[in-house]
Amino acid sequence: MSDKNLTAILYEKDDLRLEDLPVPEPGQGEVLLEMKEVGICGSDVHYWTHGRIGDFVVKAPMILGHEASAVVSKLGPGVTNLKEGDRVAIEPGVPCRLCNYCKSGRYNLCLDMKFCATPPYHGNLARYYVHAADFCFKLPDHVSFEEGALLEPLSVGVHATNRAGVGLGNTVLVCGAGPIGLVNILTAKAKGASLICVTDIDESRLKVAKEIGADFAIKVTSGDPQVVAQAIEEAVGDKVDITIECSGAAKSIQTAVYATKSGGVVVLVGLGQDLVEVPVVNAGVREVDIRGIFRYVNCYPTALAMVASGRVNVKPLITHRFKLEEAVKAFEAAKRGEGIKVMISCGRK
Ligand code: NAD
Ligand code: ZN
Repeated sequence: MSDKNLTAILYEKDDLRLEDLPVPEPGQGEVLLEMKEVGICGSDVHYWTHGRIGDFVVKAPMILGHEASAVVSKLGPGVTNLKEGDRVAIEPGVPCRLCNYCKSGRYNLCLDMKFCATPPYHGNLARYYVHAADFCFKLPDHVSFEEGALLEPLSVGVHATNRAGVGLGNTVLVCGAGPIGLVNILTAKAKGASLICVTDIDESRLKVAKEIGADFAIKVTSGDPQVVAQAIEEAVGDKVDITIECSGAAKSIQTAVYATKSGGVVVLVGLGQDLVEVPVVNAGVREVDIRGIFRYVNCYPTALAMVASGRVNVKPLITHRFKLEEAVKAFEAAKRGEGIKVMISCGRK
């Protein structure tokens, strides 16, 4: 079998296959990309194990992958911002550019968003892939392809800390120390947080969180959110200015409210159950603002600048490396949840 454009396709739940597909042609404003590194995200694993995330259902075979970097291999008509051979990070969501959300600068809320590996749109876990040229960001030579791929989760941290308004001297609680909690620790620290406390139920994840800069790590053992909030307050010496909830666990969302100072902000990043009981009176009378975030908007340039300048180091997040040929093995490792970030290298070895 030829493997010129080896591609990881999810046919349905539990059915991930590697197939050689035709190399696509870039259209107007698009570039053909020779894929380099693709990180596996919790959502890729969830589509593989469940065939759906909420209302997004895999109804037709879908190529997985959306945390990616590549080399520009061919320009489509009209492309002027890139040239062949450029090394790029790929922002995976391409909005319509025409609606009011897009025009007002909040394109992450666009109802016509085409986001890699969110049904019905294909991802880029393949040797070749076509993407909008204006959603490719040129990497300086000293920024690796792995770092380029990690700009995707890092952008979630940039957006969440933007929405939270993290600034100099703030105390920040990050709930959940998965990849998304960790990028929030990195960005909150880079934005000048004076103290970062992290929670998780998993000791090994807390250990990584401390290694990358969390000041306090609290293992959640109690099922009572007020008890957990009390433990956080005792460790920090006060309630925190800002909480960034990155677990999606209902109890943790409750803890987030109780642990935050009056007048503070809780940002909900974690996506769990649809309906969750939240102490709204407690939040309301203490003017704790609860804000959602959806992915990121205009965050890639910031994420790239932070990595390129050395202000943020995402490298410690990578714990596993596989080749594209070993994609199923890579997904199994990600599913076991033993490390942090699993990377797949798409080049022919
Ligand atoms: P993950 O599953 O690897 O990490 C979640 C962490 O939370 C785990 O380490 C887990 O042990 C911990 N946890 C579970 N229960 C807890 C509790 N009660 N208290 C504290 N910690 C607890 O997932 P991830 O890839 O890091 O993503 C985190 C969340 O962010 C997911 O829900 C994901 O869907 C969501 N997400 C949202 C957006 C967005 O745009 N809003 C973007 C990316 C990811
Ligand atoms: Zn739009």
